[in-house]
Amino acid sequence: MGFCDNIGYTRRKIVSVKDILKERMAFSFEVFPPKTDKGMEKLCSPGGVLDQLYELRPDYISCTYGAGGTNVGKNLEVLDKIKQDGKAIPLTHFTCIGNTKEGIRQQLDTYLDHGINHMLALRGDFPVGWSGTGGDLHYATQLVKFVRKEYGDKFTIAVAGSPEGHVACRSIEADISFLKQKQDNGADYIMTQLCWDMEQFKRWLDMIRKAGVTMPIDVGVIPITDQAATITMAYNRNASVIPKELSRLLTKHWIFPNPYNPTEPEDVVKAKKAAFKEEGMLYTIRQIDQYRALGCNGIHMYVLNKSDGVARLVNESGMMDYI
Ligand code: FAD
Repeated sequence: MGFCDNIGYTRRKIVSVKDILKERMAFSFEVFPPKTDKGMEKLCSPGGVLDQLYELRPDYISCTYGAGGTNVGKNLEVLDKIKQDGKAIPLTHFTCIGNTKEGIRQQLDTYLDHGINHMLALRGDFPVGWSGTGGDLHYATQLVKFVRKEYGDKFTIAVAGSPEGHVACRSIEADISFLKQKQDNGADYIMTQLCWDMEQFKRWLDMIRKAGVTMPIDVGVIPITDQAATITMAYNRNASVIPKELSRLLTKHWIFPNPYNPTEPEDVVKAKKAAFKEEGMLYTIRQIDQYRALGCNGIHMYVLNKSDGVARLVNESGMMDYI
């Protein structure tokens, strides 16, 4: 069955990401709930970032969920807007942080009442100073099990996979065994953590398949457009490897004394930023080529509420032709 939506293109009506992944590669974006009204306006107003992302015809758009549920209101507001616009499936991230079972039920009931039936089931990052989730559930495996027990098949459930191993895992083997457990507990597909190290990604792919993880893999891709953001992404939570080629790129366009606190003349900084962005875009496109050649099932772009350059990445990587 086909339908023509209001941005003027025809596509098959598929209601679950799980079903899309069975048929072809999926393509999606990730946004976060802005903290300010100005940020909300930039994301959600007519002609804003969401409208610009819809033009690229993503299958779904996910919205992050803050530690301890601090931004649940805005998360729902953003997802409501995506649902009402009807141009992409809304998917909420959801974590165990600070949530009792009763609290989880209440929030998941609300999502379903709002027509949001796709979730990324996560443990969540511990807020600063915490050493546990502070809730009734302690791992994503438990959350998946709980959601399946309470809600049956009402939710399509994605889970996180960490190609380099979760930053706090005791071993990559342990991490993979918990990923398999997420599958056994009823998860539908994997959304991966940032990984620029392609050799490690290939090793992980091989290892998870040998461990019996058959879930489709939707690869998380962070567009490389800014030096400071690239370094922060690698180190502030994930301890990601920066491979030699990317490291060379950072060095080649290094902003002195550092990209967080530039002291070079403004025009020099501007030119370096532009040159880094240009090469970073090409680097990102090559990375997408590699993921596709490995048979990954989807590309999920962490666009961080920006649409700048995203259209080029989508077009030049060939992703748009899938939809
Ligand atoms: P888990 O799979 O539960 O694993 C956490 C750690 O515990 C790992 O080291 C694992 O090896 C270990 N482990 C798992 N099960 C067991 C067990 N039974 N016994 C002992 N050890 C175990 N965070 C947010 O707060 N909000 C977001 O919106 C958000 N979005 C994300 C989106 C994506 C695509 C990804 C990949 C991550 C996102 N995160 C988000 C980050 C995520 O919450 C963190 O990486 C978190 O630290 C771990 O979550 P997890 O679901 O991978 O945890």
